[in-house]
Amino acid sequence: MQPYESRRQRLRRSIRRAGVDALLVSNFKNVTYLTGFTGDDSFLLVTLDGETLISDSRYVTQLGDECPELKLVIRGPSDVIAAVAAQVIKRRKVKRLAIEADSATVALGASLAESLPKVAITAPSGSVEQLRIVKDRDEIQQTRIACSQAERAFDAARALITPQMTERDLAAELEYQARRFGAKALSFPAIVAAGPRSALPHATPSATRLATGDFVLVDWGANSGLYASDLTRIIVTGRISPKLRKIYGVVLAAQQAAIDAIRPGVTCEQVDRVARRIITKAGWGRAFGHGLGHGTGLDIHEAPRFAAGQKTKLRPGMIVTVEPGIYLPGWGGVRIEDDVLVTRSGREVLTSLPKRLDDCVLTR
Ligand code: ZN
Ligand code: ZN
Repeated sequence: MQPYESRRQRLRRSIRRAGVDALLVSNFKNVTYLTGFTGDDSFLLVTLDGETLISDSRYVTQLGDECPELKLVIRGPSDVIAAVAAQVIKRRKVKRLAIEADSATVALGASLAESLPKVAITAPSGSVEQLRIVKDRDEIQQTRIACSQAERAFDAARALITPQMTERDLAAELEYQARRFGAKALSFPAIVAAGPRSALPHATPSATRLATGDFVLVDWGANSGLYASDLTRIIVTGRISPKLRKIYGVVLAAQQAAIDAIRPGVTCEQVDRVARRIITKAGWGRAFGHGLGHGTGLDIHEAPRFAAGQKTKLRPGMIVTVEPGIYLPGWGGVRIEDDVLVTRSGREVLTSLPKRLDDCVLTR
């Protein structure tokens, strides 16, 4: 059976629990999750006994391929989607409507309120995102493919590094190689930061030569079609200084301890704390300024989040990154990132690129 109907059934249960008659899904990743339809500019109205996809004529053929079972309303070229949605909502006799707080625009909310004066409209947050947090078998398989594409692209791009190569060159090479290995695109514009620039956790690739410092930080991922992977590795282009060896060792130990702590029932903040404690104990606590990781899926950043205060308990089927880092302005930054699936008995690391410091040395 297609997973989409069972996802919509789960959503219906949450709509009923919320005490409303329908949810108007306007985030197109959420529409994809619930229908398999990969176009955008479309809304899905999910009621307690059915659903209607509101789209436009560009997508008619694609809709027939991707979600032939769905009831469609195709708007004309001059129809505004909010007005068409209001008609569908009226026709389905919805009295209490939820719209998505995180994607519905103020304009959409105002337009619906104006066309539907008798409908009570609420805007809850994360109704579909809460379902997306646990991945099913198909989603896990898509993520495995995304991990493998990212890793093959990295190996291929790394083999082409020359002393003249710039950060931008390597970022472009990663993208090209990921596509060669079947990815739709990179999951996000790759971060390639040489030498001291690696202290910027989200550096934009520049014309700086990779050989500028002793090492380069690369953060990239592949999108296999719908699902994303997300990795970070260091490439050592120069000498391994005692400081690099020390810092790299601390980050790797923190990452390994956090990965080992992942299992069902553990809270996200506990996992974050495991890594943070190791880095803090080594004296670099303040140099680790971001959360330990995040969920991946249709979006590169989704729930859950590894950070202080995050009480979400891990459940089998969640896919999370584990990416501690130490950033020292003027010197550089080290981050190591892998993607981890929470399993019934613990965890499975989905990425497998070697990460001992000696494995990171560029040898040609
Ligand atoms: Zn990353
Ligand atoms: Zn990440």
